[in-house]
Amino acid sequence: MRQSSVDLKSSGRSIGFVPTMGALHGGHVSLINEAKKCNDAAVLSIFVNPTQFAPGEDYNSYPRDIERDKITASDTGVDILFLPSADEMYPEGFKTFVNVEGITESLCGRFRPRHFKGVATVVLKLFNIVMPDRAYFGEKDYQQLLVVKKMVKDLNLDIEIKGMPTIREWDGLAMSSRNGYLNRKERISAVSLSTALKTSQEMVKNDERRAEKIIGEMEKVINNEDAAKIDYISICDPDTLKDIEIIDNRALAALAVRIGKTRLIDNCILEVK
Ligand code: AMP
Repeated sequence: MRQSSVDLKSSGRSIGFVPTMGALHGGHVSLINEAKKCNDAAVLSIFVNPTQFAPGEDYNSYPRDIERDKITASDTGVDILFLPSADEMYPEGFKTFVNVEGITESLCGRFRPRHFKGVATVVLKLFNIVMPDRAYFGEKDYQQLLVVKKMVKDLNLDIEIKGMPTIREWDGLAMSSRNGYLNRKERISAVSLSTALKTSQEMVKNDERRAEKIIGEMEKVINNEDAAKIDYISICDPDTLKDIEIIDNRALAALAVRIGKTRLIDNCILEVK
């Protein structure tokens, strides 16, 4: 991989990079399309990163379909598909981790305390291997996008980080590799995440500024579904991810909900006109 990147760079070609964990869907494809549009070569990595899963989470059962992903990669015009193994990425004796402080402590960080350390570490490793000019991340994983941007800034990496809009199913559910875990009833319940976000946007449009009130209505939408259990609903500052009480400009509405055994996340920006 490194040699391919060196060759591309020495011939003056730019590299756009899309790191993923595979089980590719329309969200991933939108990132690949953007990487292709704005760079001379698009690199896609598929690596289910063990260090971002806690014991008891779904590392072993995480959906893996490499044959189908290879077809998607070739259909979308990926130039290089990078498929490292866990042993290559984390050989015996691996001891170095990247810890982004502050913004990793709220939202998903409260429920998955080591998650972002694993994410930042693997993303930095992948950046060092692929040496991209630009890297593409989805706003669906808003906190992750912020963590990567912060790491790039703090560690002086010469890589442009591009956040891309969330791609949704026809009924509003954010596309996710984990949606495949849902049975038919759960799939219907899962729409409540995006419905709750729409509720928050409607309320702000109708001049409600109190976070507590908005969160209360969002909770009602989710709690209407028997299969749903809220991890968190937060209205927070889009840069610091600190909770806010009154929305006076822009805010992030973010939530994590368990639908049966499947943990889903989603978010949207709330803007006061
Ligand atoms: P994952 O394979 O889930 O780790 O995701 C790889 C990349 O795709 C991350 O940058 C995600 O934020 C992004 N992504 C996942 N789902 C979506 C979506 N529905 N829309 C846009 N980007 C997404």
